[in-house]
Amino acid sequence: MATAQRILIVGGGIAGQTLACALARQGLTCEIVEIRPDWQIAGAAMTLQGNALRALRDIGLAEATVAAGWRGGVRPLVFTDTLGQTVMEPDVLNMVGPGYPPQIAIRRQALHEVLLRAVQAARVPIRMGITVKSINDTGSEVQATFTDGRSQNYDLVVGADGIRSTVRSLVFGDIQPRFAGFANWRALLPRPPSVNRMMWMWGHGRSVGVLPLDGDQVFVAGVTKEKDATRYPPEDLARLFCEKFKSFGGALPDVLARAGEGPWLYTVMEEITLDPPWYKGRVVLLGDAAHAACPFWAQGAAMAMEDSVVLAGLLGTGHSVAAALAEWMQRRHARCLYVQKGSYDTGVLTHIDPESDQPKRFPAAFSEIVTKQFHVREAKMAEPI
Ligand SMILES: Cc1cc2nc3c(=O)[nH]c(=O)nc-3n(C[C@H](O)[C@H](O)[C@H](O)COP(=O)(O)OP(=O)(O)OC[C@H]3O[C@@H](n4cnc5c(N)ncnc54)[C@H](O)[C@@H]3O)c2cc1C
Repeated sequence: MATAQRILIVGGGIAGQTLACALARQGLTCEIVEIRPDWQIAGAAMTLQGNALRALRDIGLAEATVAAGWRGGVRPLVFTDTLGQTVMEPDVLNMVGPGYPPQIAIRRQALHEVLLRAVQAARVPIRMGITVKSINDTGSEVQATFTDGRSQNYDLVVGADGIRSTVRSLVFGDIQPRFAGFANWRALLPRPPSVNRMMWMWGHGRSVGVLPLDGDQVFVAGVTKEKDATRYPPEDLARLFCEKFKSFGGALPDVLARAGEGPWLYTVMEEITLDPPWYKGRVVLLGDAAHAACPFWAQGAAMAMEDSVVLAGLLGTGHSVAAALAEWMQRRHARCLYVQKGSYDTGVLTHIDPESDQPKRFPAAFSEIVTKQFHVREAKMAEPI
């Protein structure tokens, strides 16, 4: 198979847009189809760890992304018990270079705007409000038909269409997300002056991140252990969250004093496990479509960005489609699985005893274990990709 000249990216999210930028830097052209009719990005905010910033640096976007986020001071990150007492305050590795923070917190909309500006500057065509209806790989090319009635042939089709990927179901069969036993509660609220670090607080069967953002906002990211995937009415979320987290102290009461200013989001945590290879012929899945993970390590976007940068690098250095996909799989599989498994295990370890409503304290031995684990993970994430 010759190098890909015609590349279709299905999904204009974090993976899809990073891939488009990375391909453009390699001098390769592509187009994106995105099912959403507009760019109103749900999901509040996120952290971008050092390896995500490193991938963004590789496509020339680290500076713009850091400028759009909250970078914090010397020790921007602390993990505490329910009452705000420090459990660990790890050294976070700078994986990007002098002048960059080790990690940032950023509104999803702001990250999206950085990526979209770069995609538009690279003149990548984006067709909104449509998706693929059928995908037929003939061996020498892929024929795709779209929901707007068009059809076109490509050298490579990339499914970057998230956890409920249409490309995955068209090409890989019926592989459904698995409920992981947790739920996420999220809101952007006004930031009280007491919040000036990224703070993750662990309690019984629940935890919450309180992350400063650019401007005067704070991102509240709660996790509860759940028996099933039941959802709650949106209008009840602020009240329910305050009830579930009433035993928490530290900065949380100040933040939740304005919980009613929501809006709040509630999603159950799901994972995708797909046996390798994550490609068939000339169709490949990346990001959440291939390996959605629980967000306890805040690594999903980082993995999606890395997937994209590695794939574009291989396609841009003269590899045939077949050779590029084979090597890409080798470089991505173990790392993405390490994140998926490690992130889930961290969730289990830090969310035991969900029935208790009492403040939670941690023995020193626990701090030692999790600090060691944090540094092992950081070293792994800092490895070259
Ligand atoms: C609660 C929560 C918190 C998280 N926090 C972090 C964090 O702090 N740090 C971090 O690195 N990661 C985090 N993640 C993970 C991260 O959000 C995902 O891993 C990342 O968004 C994956 O990017 P993606 O492009 O693969 O998928 P998505 O971001 O889901 O993008 C998929 C895109 O495809 C589009 N699409 C969907 N279906 C179709 C279709 N049929 N046709 C065309 N387009 C389609 C969608 O509209 C979307 O634009 C978190 C995840 C969750 C759930």
